[in-house]
Order: sequence, then structure tokens, then C-alpha cells
Amino acid sequence: MSTESLRIVWIYPDLLSTYGDRGNVLILARRARQRGMPVEVYEVRSDQRLPTAADIYLIGGGEDGPQALGAQRMLADGGLHRAVAQGSVVFGVCAGYQLLGTSFFAKGARCQGLGLLDLESDRGPSRAVGELAGEIDPRLGIPSLSGFENHGGRTHLGPGVAPLARVTAGVGNDGQTEGAWRGKLLGTYSHGPALARNPALADLLLRWATGAHQLPPLDDTWPDRLRGERRAAVAAARP
Ligand code: GLN
Repeated sequence: MSTESLRIVWIYPDLLSTYGDRGNVLILARRARQRGMPVEVYEVRSDQRLPTAADIYLIGGGEDGPQALGAQRMLADGGLHRAVAQGSVVFGVCAGYQLLGTSFFAKGARCQGLGLLDLESDRGPSRAVGELAGEIDPRLGIPSLSGFENHGGRTHLGPGVAPLARVTAGVGNDGQTEGAWRGKLLGTYSHGPALARNPALADLLLRWATGAHQLPPLDDTWPDRLRGERRAAVAAARP
């Protein structure tokens, strides 16, 4: 594995970090370091320019106002588009997922998204709050998704993206599918720290970023216990 540092950028923690999104940064950095990879983490605030040469970009969840502002600033900055064109990995959560699409709704208005994923979001009949579980696209080769969701939006996928998962509990995009991915871009409604509950998803992002086909296994006793506990809670809540 390369001894060059893995560069992780956390985009706009001042706007998009409502749901413990720092946890995703910590998990990625820790799992990389445990494999002997040096890691540099950059927290880029919304009044700063986005670096274009990082390996992984994380965009967290947020309320409507900060979401709309964050999208405007990312569009004006242009750095994320350049990074994606150069092959960087992007992981977006909830608001950070919606704004990767062509448009989304915030505060009653349709807002322009970054257009990096072929999807658009509107408002649902009610807020989706609670456990979210799904069977992940088998092509990604990772176990089922375990998460928590809290969003008013619903997301409609175009032909240019694949759903991340088929919903087995909760709402996700529309009650049927959850999240989306294309190339090395992936979005989910599963909140921060989604990667604490889904270590295989963290490792997928690390593999995309490094080009490694496999990573040395880690002791995932605790995340496995958490996943088991949440699975049991979902099953118990079923009518
Ligand atoms: N504001 C968006 C919505 O309600 C995203 C919310 C979030 O990030 N949790 O759909």
C-alpha cells in the first residue's frame, strides 16, 4: 500500500454537521490508520476554498437553511466538481446526499444541487424519522445497511445512478430504495455516524480511495454488536 497520506476532507462542518457527522471522519481515519496508512484530515469551513486533490470528501447532514447555503457555496467554489473529475471519492449523508443531485427542496423552495448524481429530491408527506435498514446492492459486496434517518425530503433516482440499498425498514429515498451510488460517489440517508454502524461501508470508501481490492480485516466486535442490537430493535418494532 502507498505510504502517501490518505487525504480526507470534511466539507463545511460549520453548516453540515447536525447529526454527529464527525463520527464518519473519525471512523474513516481510524480504519485507515489501523491498516498502516498515514492520514491527513482537513476540516474545510464554508468560508474557505475546497482543496481539489484530496482522496475522500465527506458531506454531512443539515437543516434546510444550512443545506441550501452549503450547496450554493460548493457550486460557486467548483472544487468538488474538479476533485470528482480527477477520481476522488465522495460520501454524502442526508442533506449532503440530496445536494449531490440536480435539485432539492429547502424551506419551501427548489434549490439547485451540484448535479454530481442523477437524482432529485422533493418533500414527502411526512418526516421520515427512525431506524433505516436495507439490503445493499450486491455489486458492492458488503453486508446490509443499518442506520437511523431523519429527513423531510424524498429522493427520486434517474437512470445514471443505482440505489445503494433496497429498504427493509424505514423510508430511505421513497420507501423502496435507499441512497444512491455511481462510480466513487455514494450517498445515503443513514445518518452520521453511518460508518460507525456500517464499517464495511467505511472500508468500501477506503478501497475506492486507495484502489486496494482488499483491506486487512479489523476487529469489529463492537460495531457487530451494535448492528445486532439495532437489528433486534427493528424486528421487535415490526407489527
Ligand atoms: N433538510 C433535509 C430534509 O429534511 C435534510 C435533513 C437532514 O440532513 N437530516 O430532507
